[in-house]
Amino acid sequence: MTELAPHALEALIVDWGDVPTVTDIKVVRRRSRDFFWYSPILNEQLSGKSAEVLVIPRDEVDVVRVAAACARHRVPLTVRAGGTGNYGQAVPLAGGVLLDITELSAIEWVKPGVIRVGVGAKMNAIDAELQASGWELRMHPSTKRTATIGGFVAGGSGGIGSVNYGGLREPGNILAARVVTMEETPRIIELRGDAAQKVNRAYGTTGIITALEMPLAPAWRWIDVVVVFDSFMEAVEFGYEVALADGIVKKLLSPVTWPLPSYFGALKTYCPDGKSILIAMIAEPSLESFKNLLGSRGEITLETATDDSPGQVPLYEYTWNHTTLQVLKADRSVTYLQCLYPHDRLLQKVDDMRQMFPDEVLQHLEFIRFNGHVTCSGLPVVRFTDAARLNEIIRRHEESEVSIANPHVYTVEDGSRYKRVDADQLGFKHEIDPYGLLNPGKMRSFVGRSR
Ligand code: FAD
Repeated sequence: MTELAPHALEALIVDWGDVPTVTDIKVVRRRSRDFFWYSPILNEQLSGKSAEVLVIPRDEVDVVRVAAACARHRVPLTVRAGGTGNYGQAVPLAGGVLLDITELSAIEWVKPGVIRVGVGAKMNAIDAELQASGWELRMHPSTKRTATIGGFVAGGSGGIGSVNYGGLREPGNILAARVVTMEETPRIIELRGDAAQKVNRAYGTTGIITALEMPLAPAWRWIDVVVVFDSFMEAVEFGYEVALADGIVKKLLSPVTWPLPSYFGALKTYCPDGKSILIAMIAEPSLESFKNLLGSRGEITLETATDDSPGQVPLYEYTWNHTTLQVLKADRSVTYLQCLYPHDRLLQKVDDMRQMFPDEVLQHLEFIRFNGHVTCSGLPVVRFTDAARLNEIIRRHEESEVSIANPHVYTVEDGSRYKRVDADQLGFKHEIDPYGLLNPGKMRSFVGRSR
């Protein structure tokens, strides 16, 4: 960590003027963390890392002042939003400034099917605001109640709704992003259409996003459903049928193998011992068709309107990476993986992986669309022994044509399936962050000018 000398820190703060600033190092250290502790490997690598000062811009003008000061003083800056990332995305590796972006949360406008919003807005606040207009975000992570729209675009991939629209990477799922550059005289750039992908999942290394234009979906009255099956493969097969049934309007289809539901707290009542489950969110008018398709293959144990208002625990908080969290609450010895199954051999490959690691890799799938095909993302809970064994499990998945987006590494490249950063993102970083000050260490391929 590059430590700023006290006078250098003081000069930096003087330079950005009256932007609200926190220097209490206990607070700064606490805010420099995210959910990297899900990974025993990242937990070892990242637990001591921290920024040296926290700054909380009130608006975009403040963001520009902070970016300019950091560029002039050659001080690293890491953006933090909800702090719910899983790979230490918001953990500063080289000290410097932590920029809390959450005050930029105003909705600029809503038009039919589109919203323009400040990046710091929480996704549940956005959907609550949209409800009266009959629209909602196309997708959100299972951390919807704490995560921001900007953090989702800069650090996330997809979630509830991806069964219909795919992930954020699919064309049309991010319409535009407004970005502040990291230069002595920062520019404000509007990235529209494909160009907005330059900031998607780049962990804040390619600019400070201040506003986003996101496409919307019709807001249905969603019904949370739990269906119980004798075997995991029956839950997967039924989930697949629903995913392919275009007339049944759904937002979430998550098969979960026993014994994972035994860790499900309040939901446990609806999960009989020894049974695997399918968690689903179905539009109310489609519920009858959903039940007809199910027939007598499984038993519905829960059927209730989705409620994610304060104090409630919606069913989606048992899915995506919340499934892992539910288990971690009781057993800190487990961890997880992120898999992508080939769409043309989906059921076979799921069964192969289940048989390859029957007790060590406990299956949990999420139906998604990927490049226009229905397939599954897997977020299995893994009984952790050591790094070597985890890498062996990853290797055997990849040998079996199940791709892994490794959640036990902190760089953009190492986590991605392509093992290299997208050329556009790297080129754009050279353009807007010549000194490599934005979240340094997270984009491995980048070699900046000397500071
Ligand atoms: P942060 O964690 O604060 O930031 C994430 C990254 O984005 C960091 O690199 C940060 O520097 C950068 N960043 C944030 N805001 C900006 C900005 N304005 N400009 C530039 N860079 C910025 N992810 C999914 O995709 N789908 C899921 O279903 C999902 N489920 C999860 C469940 C649990 C229990 C947990 C702990 C995590 C889960 N995640 C999931 C990961 C994470 O919650 C989401 O990606 C979330 O959207 C991150 O938003 P955040 O506001 O917390 O961002």
